Amino acid sequence: MQSWGTAPPPSVIIDLSPIVLLRGEPRWDWVESAVKAWRDQHDPRARFYGVADNSLWYKLDESGKRKLSEWKRKRMARSVSWADPEVLELATQFESAAVITTDLFRDHRREFPWLQGTDRIWKPVLADDSMRFKQLDYTAIAPEEVSWRIEEADLTPKGFKSPEARDALRYEWRCASSGCVWAGKAVIEEDPAFREGQVVCPGCSTPAVKLGPRESTKEIVLLLGEDEVDRLPLAERAVLTVGRGRDVGRYDVREVLDDPTANKVSRDHLRLTNTGGRIFVEELGSKNGTRIVRANGASAPLQVGVQQVLAHAEHLSLAGGSLNIRLSGKKRPRGTYEPDLATPPFLRAERN
Ligand SMILES: [Zn+2]
Repeated sequence: MQSWGTAPPPSVIIDLSPIVLLRGEPRWDWVESAVKAWRDQHDPRARFYGVADNSLWYKLDESGKRKLSEWKRKRMARSVSWADPEVLELATQFESAAVITTDLFRDHRREFPWLQGTDRIWKPVLADDSMRFKQLDYTAIAPEEVSWRIEEADLTPKGFKSPEARDALRYEWRCASSGCVWAGKAVIEEDPAFREGQVVCPGCSTPAVKLGPRESTKEIVLLLGEDEVDRLPLAERAVLTVGRGRDVGRYDVREVLDDPTANKVSRDHLRLTNTGGRIFVEELGSKNGTRIVRANGASAPLQVGVQQVLAHAEHLSLAGGSLNIRLSGKKRPRGTYEPDLATPPFLRAERN
């Protein structure tokens, strides 16, 4: 179990993406409505914690982005490649917390057996401008259906039926089309799409650029003090610059740090590079420097312009420890595929 950090434990965990997309068009307002409605109807003192998919950021308008950043700054949210397992891990850790989502997590019931028959999961329902909550039906499903859901989620994302298409899933992809939501990112963090024998960007349908094998991708974890706010995939040969500035291959600290703290970070502060599945870090000559903290707690300043390996038990400390960076111990999630909500074949057969 990963450590939680210093934020107060949540009593309600919100799966942010499906709530923002409750009516199709992305609207952060649904999250605020859910908070208000839950406080009115269930628990006036509820403490909320949101988990977002990284792809959600690109779907939000400017005001929604500001709100998500604000939640992160207040240690009320984190953003990861794939929110589903993160929501469920947190719900396992905080076993009295309610979960707000629209998902039945049928492909996760083997890994999280408490889901079978649980009464902790609630779905927001909109009626006449007001939001209410309905308990989702988590009646236990049969083991063979659980297995089928896992296979479906894992092996047959939309359009990926042929062996060539499935092979494409072993790699990371980038979008090179300007104006696309994924154009500014080192890696497309959604399922790629497959059209007419080609892997295309799910955002703009132009052919995607192939990057390294997915198994070499490492995840970088960014923490405010000890509280995780962001987890980003760094594909093989990819470069991530941490600092104050927004551009391709950059992590903009202004999105999670308040102004005085962000100002302690230089525009080009630190560079992380994935070479053959190992993460190299390099101090870029920032004003306040970067410290590397070893497993035993001893720390030393990173030398400017010298690349060194970041090991799993180590972390980097910027702005006096306000922003920390470490590697995730987890493998890059296998997929973020929309589970197929169709009836499994064996249940279909029963019905006929
Ligand atoms: Zn694109």
